[in-house]
Amino acid sequence: MSCLFCKIVSLEIPAEIVAESELSVAFNDISPQAPTHVLIVPKKHFPNVAELANNNPATVADLFLLAEEIAKSRGLVGYRTVFNTGAEAGQSVFHAHLHLLGGRSLHWPPG
Ligand code: AMP
Ligand code: ZN
Repeated sequence: MSCLFCKIVSLEIPAEIVAESELSVAFNDISPQAPTHVLIVPKKHFPNVAELANNNPATVADLFLLAEEIAKSRGLVGYRTVFNTGAEAGQSVFHAHLHLLGGRSLHWPPG
């Protein structure tokens, strides 16, 4: 399996893991776009969130609950959660992942 995030989940490639649940792992983004920029990924490989939702809907909820737990533990007053789906939308790693961004004011539209 040549998937980068599968290798992070299996600890083959190091990452700054910040939280974990039975179904998901959270680690710091290597190129943070905000003071908190955490990626929350399912332990099982799915190429995008639609595939994940189709095959394992409980894990979609788990990703959001872990995001909320991390945000609360850091005292974030607000945060943004984002799934990029497809290269056109900026997806560059094809293992479903939820971006958790916070710690600064975030603008809308995101661009
Ligand atoms: P996306 O563009 O939505 O597919 O998000 C992929 C994210 O993975 C980007 O924000 C990258 O900065 C991040 N990333 C790439 N390689 C690593 C890595 N080895 N460890 C942590 N984050 C990474
Ligand atoms: Zn993977």
